[in-house]
Amino acid sequence: MSSCQVCRKKINLSLIDMGHMPIANDLKKSKDNKCNLFPLEVLLCEYCKLFQLSVRINPQSIFSDYVYHSSYSSSWLAHAKNFANKVKNDIDFSQNNFIMEIASNDGYLLKNFDKNKFKILGLEPAENVADIARKNNIPTEAIFFNEDNATYLKNKYGKPKLIIANNVLAHVPDIKDFLRALDIVSARETFISIEFPSVVNLIQDFQFDTIYHEHFTYLSLNTIENLINKLNLKVFRVEKLDTHGGSIRLWLAKKSNDIKIQKNVHLERSKELKSKIFDSETLKLFSRECFKRKDRFNNFLKEEKNKNLKIYAYGAAAKGISFLNFCGDNCKKILGVFDKNEMKQGCYIPGLNIEILDPKHINEIKPDYIIILPWNLKKEIKKDLSFISNWGGKLISFE
Ligand SMILES: [Zn+2]
Repeated sequence: MSSCQVCRKKINLSLIDMGHMPIANDLKKSKDNKCNLFPLEVLLCEYCKLFQLSVRINPQSIFSDYVYHSSYSSSWLAHAKNFANKVKNDIDFSQNNFIMEIASNDGYLLKNFDKNKFKILGLEPAENVADIARKNNIPTEAIFFNEDNATYLKNKYGKPKLIIANNVLAHVPDIKDFLRALDIVSARETFISIEFPSVVNLIQDFQFDTIYHEHFTYLSLNTIENLINKLNLKVFRVEKLDTHGGSIRLWLAKKSNDIKIQKNVHLERSKELKSKIFDSETLKLFSRECFKRKDRFNNFLKEEKNKNLKIYAYGAAAKGISFLNFCGDNCKKILGVFDKNEMKQGCYIPGLNIEILDPKHINEIKPDYIIILPWNLKKEIKKDLSFISNWGGKLISFE
């Protein structure tokens, strides 16, 4: 049995064992490229309530040549813009206008802040992506955010008024170190925004495709509060979001900051506990249901393929790749996966060798079925692809 990556206690509970899977973003340049498989199992530490992978793969092997993707969905860009507008209204930047974003990608969020009014800095560990950000005029350091770099950042740039760490925490291999680093770079007046897909939603809605090697941990308010308990940080506000199938945004500040802990923090904490996501019976039920869904999808593929129908999929994001690989070899019946991202087109889905195609070919190919893999963007994609009904093509999703 494994021991917890944070509290080191022995772990006895498993949420799901998905078997050996490829690294989801490890797209193959050619069909015959070898693909390494690694165990993919989520465990729960009963003591600190941290859902975590049983085996963590060295992030360097995942992130050094990272395919950059976040600038491609219009709803995601709108989400980033709304966030920027909200903090500009809610936070008083008159004494300190320094905004630091961790995992800033190509700067798609930071570009919403006027550089004449704000001092901005992005941290983006993937060198190729950091370069794109700099070309977009967003000051960016190509480094990981951790305890060592926190001191360097503090000395070089000072302490921020706002730290944005949205949708990064689950990607951090050492979450304890990351939270300590937040404590180090924060001043008494600093506000920290942490956004992550809620593990409550993951479990209640059977979102097993959000489990992949790049997600080291699966988080809740209770977990974060347990982890920051010994640091000089507190959660003072919780916001519920629709993104990624249900996310939460936590606002953190130093314990020494006078800001009051809002009522919704206490409400959300007890709501999470009432949802029984930390109970062993719930975990067993989750696993059983996910395997049932896998069977259902395989049956669909077998039946429709026997009718000689052209089945394609849409969206070669990590989520879809995890879904297809969990469902297994039957998915090789899928003739191609369309994706708008030019960097992905011509590559192959790891583990299954399905080619990623430019959606402009949909009109020539005329698929009978297109399976929408990123169910969180279903509405947007359905609208974009509605034209396939012209030849009787159907859009379906399996969430
Ligand atoms: Zn633990």
